[in-house]
Amino acid sequence: MQQGNRVDSHTVLYGVIGDPIRHSKSPLMMNCAFRETGINGIYTAFHITASQLAAFIGGVRAMDIRGVNVTIPHKLDVMPYLDHIDESARLIGAVNTIVNNSGVLIGYNTDGLGYVRSLKEEVEPNLAGKRVVILGAGGAARGIIYGLAQEQVATIAVANRTFERAARLAEDFSLMAEVKAAGWEELETLCKSADLVINTTSVGMYPYVDETPASASWLKESAIASDLIYNPLETRFLREARLAGCRTHGGLGMFIYQGAYAFEYWTGQTAPAEAMRSCVLQALEAAAAAKS
Ligand code: NAP
Repeated sequence: MQQGNRVDSHTVLYGVIGDPIRHSKSPLMMNCAFRETGINGIYTAFHITASQLAAFIGGVRAMDIRGVNVTIPHKLDVMPYLDHIDESARLIGAVNTIVNNSGVLIGYNTDGLGYVRSLKEEVEPNLAGKRVVILGAGGAARGIIYGLAQEQVATIAVANRTFERAARLAEDFSLMAEVKAAGWEELETLCKSADLVINTTSVGMYPYVDETPASASWLKESAIASDLIYNPLETRFLREARLAGCRTHGGLGMFIYQGAYAFEYWTGQTAPAEAMRSCVLQALEAAAAAKS
């Protein structure tokens, strides 16, 4: 039963920090989760610039803010302010979730776990032995490689516009998985033999919806095309791959499950993932209708 967010002197505080942040759908999603579970919590968005980061962390301790999500550009810079970094976040090199245990701040990264859970539930439960191509070598790509490495995929090729970044990433994960760096010009050849092609770049994101990072004609018909972007819900890359007969996977599920894991770390309760998804979906569809 929905109980509604109550706010009283016992309400526990949560939030997301970023710069910019006003586009974030996290408050909508997390307050929906608190409502559904009847937890007396409230979640808001804080516009924190780089120069305000230290003061914000002081505020988390002083105000006993129980949980914080961290987004661009603070995922790396927040790490020195925390008391412990979980193993996965340390390997990925970025934190997207902070848990405040009575003044002891622990950093986690739920992006990769969220991505893999969504891919397995929505499209393909068995990732073992798959040949994966990742476009882009930023923070999100690092989380995804960590997640895929737990699934025993066969190989991961990372192609990035800036080759050096892909090379560094391949080296950092070399002990965990069979990862190799590739140049952007190798993409077509790599895609032709891949089982799973994942766009982790921002190419194709609103408002540049006519752009695509790769041609769907390069993909095998049996391949899965995956995109981390969820605005639009179906990017040009995914639309063309679907029309070419491939299975497709958009970024909304990753967003929901990275949030669901954060909710579970903070509250110890199972996140109401389906309710969270429908709240966000409703807002995205309403925004898309308003634009058209
Ligand atoms: P990031 O660290 O800034 O990395 C961006 C990546 O995109 C880099 O590899 C960059 O290449 C590449 N790139 C940017 N513009 C490009 C262009 N015009 N052509 C080719 N490559 C380009 O960002 P991030 O945190 O990894 O996020 C990447 C994307 O994932 C964003 O769209 C973000 O919204 C999405 N994301 C989604 C979720 C979700 O929950 N669904 C979660 C996290 C991120 P260079 O290295 O050459 O600059």
